Amino acid sequence: MPSSATPDILPQGEITFRGRGLAVMQGRRLSLKVCPRCSQRNDRRAAEQGHCHWCAYIPSLADAEPISPGSA
Ligand SMILES: [Zn+2]
Repeated sequence: MPSSATPDILPQGEITFRGRGLAVMQGRRLSLKVCPRCSQRNDRRAAEQGHCHWCAYIPSLADAEPISPGSA
């Protein structure tokens, strides 16, 4: 049985992937702004499709972490 663990409750708003990259979650829709693997700012069209325009990386939602203001 494949265990691709997608959390039931997804973080919303701006998120990172274990502290890298930058994306915006709206509902189940992911917009990848900055790639967590190659750190390039993403092409808008690729961003809306949730993958990196540069290295084709598709970030895992299991790595998604909300950006909590005030935590440094
Ligand atoms: Zn990339």
